[in-house]
Amino acid sequence: MRYLHVFDPWHFPLCTCPAKYSVDPYTGCEHRCIYCYITSYVREPWRVRPKKDFLRVLETELKHAKIMPVSMSNSSDPYPKMEKELKITRGTLRLLSKYKFPALVLTKSNLVARDRDILENMQAVVSITITTLDEELAKKLEPFAPAPELRLSAIEKLKEKDIKVAVRVDPIIPSINDSPIMLKTLIKELASLGVDQIISSTYKAKPDNFKRVAGVFKDRAEYLRELYYERNEMVRGIRYAPKEIRYKMLKIVRSLADEYAIPFSVCREGFALSSAKTCDGSHLL
Ligand code: SF4
Repeated sequence: MRYLHVFDPWHFPLCTCPAKYSVDPYTGCEHRCIYCYITSYVREPWRVRPKKDFLRVLETELKHAKIMPVSMSNSSDPYPKMEKELKITRGTLRLLSKYKFPALVLTKSNLVARDRDILENMQAVVSITITTLDEELAKKLEPFAPAPELRLSAIEKLKEKDIKVAVRVDPIIPSINDSPIMLKTLIKELASLGVDQIISSTYKAKPDNFKRVAGVFKDRAEYLRELYYERNEMVRGIRYAPKEIRYKMLKIVRSLADEYAIPFSVCREGFALSSAKTCDGSHLL
């Protein structure tokens, strides 16, 4: 298959995702999140380009594929600015709906709310990432992504149509966006919007993303270097912060999710902290 792939976490030992497909209508992502990991494997990662003949090829593939949820997108955002005109992601949703494939949509863009007319009539869960409600901090972490306020307003519009919404509080970076007060403000807001699940995970360091994070947060660089390069854990070549620090941050999010009665899951952390049935929201489909 060219565009519809069975989701493959490369046998990553901490991945608990149920079976699903993965599709990316676009290559590259313009949000330029400093913690992004695609820069280690996507050529020209910040230049968005649509995939050639995407909808025609995808339709042929869907006709012959076994029905499973389709996750879109794992290595880009399905709603870059050019999607406003190109409508390839919108066309993808139409195809998934036509061939009865449930959709797991992952985005940081409020443009997803445009497609609620399709999403409300199919099996779909929209996962929107919000790492902080602090506009200034968000600008440092995700310089070209829509502001958190816009993402909240997209959640509101989706929930008005009763569409399932998960929010990824991901990644949490020690000493950057792990303040319990900030997390409480965020979770409280999400609860008021009626989100169906919170998914959380901590920052994993790779040489290129660490360089960006340390460059933006110069005053925290030494502390983060110690956590990720001296006291770190290695999982399949990926640098994790020490277990006790990751557990403490995620336990705070879990406790807040419990306080506001929102099902919670962790992503690729190896902690028994989840209360939701699946780590990626597929049980909501
Ligand atoms: S939205 Fe995802 S793929 Fe795009 S830059 Fe941010 S982390 Fe990378």
